[in-house]
Amino acid sequence: VEKSRVRRDEHSKAAFERAKRSIPGGVNSPVRAFRSVGLTPVFAAHGSGSRITDIDGNTYIDYVASWGPLILGHAHPEVVEAIKKTAEKGTSFGMPTELETMMAELVVERVPSVDVVRMVNSGTEATMSALRLARGYTKRSKIVKFEGSYHGHADSLLIKAGSGVATLGLPDSPGVPDSVASHTITVPYNDLSAVKLAFERFGEEIACVIVEPVAGNMGVVPPLPGFLEGLREVTRAYGSLLIFDEVMTGFRVHYNCAQGLYGVEPDLTCFGKVIGGGLPVGAYGGKREIMEMIAPSGPIYQAGTLSGNPLAMAAGYTTLKLLTPETYQRLEALSARLQRGFEENAERHGIPTTINRVGSMLCPFFTDKTVINYETAKTSDLDRFKVYFASMLNLGISIAPSQFEGMFISAVHTEADIDATIEAHDEALRRL
Ligand code: PMP
Repeated sequence: VEKSRVRRDEHSKAAFERAKRSIPGGVNSPVRAFRSVGLTPVFAAHGSGSRITDIDGNTYIDYVASWGPLILGHAHPEVVEAIKKTAEKGTSFGMPTELETMMAELVVERVPSVDVVRMVNSGTEATMSALRLARGYTKRSKIVKFEGSYHGHADSLLIKAGSGVATLGLPDSPGVPDSVASHTITVPYNDLSAVKLAFERFGEEIACVIVEPVAGNMGVVPPLPGFLEGLREVTRAYGSLLIFDEVMTGFRVHYNCAQGLYGVEPDLTCFGKVIGGGLPVGAYGGKREIMEMIAPSGPIYQAGTLSGNPLAMAAGYTTLKLLTPETYQRLEALSARLQRGFEENAERHGIPTTINRVGSMLCPFFTDKTVINYETAKTSDLDRFKVYFASMLNLGISIAPSQFEGMFISAVHTEADIDATIEAHDEALRRL
């Protein structure tokens, strides 16, 4: 960490001005704009391993990891090679390829509850399709989701959502018809009695509960003991489906995903991020009896011109193959080291801090409250976060520009990276 270094940003500033003329807000996804931290977004030039270099020549140790996918870091040589080799043979066919079956077999093998899996192009598509399937299968309309959870931007799910919509203070987006929103019931995360109450009132109308098994869009919030088990019980009792949105947690928190870590089996699981190895991929899968209701075997429709795209499958398959149980041990050790360092710094500086972590998902909140849901996540001092974020960026550490996002540790972070990050954190807290 070079404490005296001055970060240059002339090129990023110019690039952003130019982008704003032809792209809404200058970005293709809102949180990238750095709006809530009041800074100019950093434009990336290239990345390698744990590092990103921006177009002004600054280098950062990166914990955004493209918002989760890059568990093997930037431009992993084997992933890049697989994409290159595949591209040479053609980028898309509109015919099935064997690579798609290999990918599906790998997911089925790794994820306990998945018998069959359909590939799509994003996490949003995965959750949107899983919802339609749950509604079609149960012939019910209502869904239960948790406040501060983000499941992509499908209409039914943009209600009291987390991530960028929480960051920008837009949890209930205009453009979602009341008639659609009225089918979404929201309850606090980790609050099983609120879920039970919703079921007592609307149980026969509820198609599904959709949950992030570790909430990652209100910062990081682990499930309390018994929460996921309770959701499993209540959904089963009422004939509703339990959907795990593992877009963020899938292949991130455990070799067998969050469901392997916690030993709870949902009916349907959504994937994204890591499963695509940095290319646009989502997927949803689950019990055969339910999944076979999708076209062409069943009447519930879902399709995609580029679904199962060869390049995306090559990147995803290669990434998953490189992830072994040992990878997760390494991630755990690195992440625990980072957590310890941060906690010691906070203690030393007397800054109220609560750190939540599950494996390589970690979030320091500026609060002394225990963070178990969105309400408690919001007790974090957001002004303090803003200053902290700017300091970390200037010290060469890239984290998400929001308190309501976690950090992602990758398998290519070194202990030296972790220690440099702890040192930067120390300096950033001093500057508070
Ligand atoms: N579900 C969860 C849990 C997510 O974290 C995200 C994205 N952050 C999504 C769904 C949506 O995925 P995508 O951005 O690929 O559409």
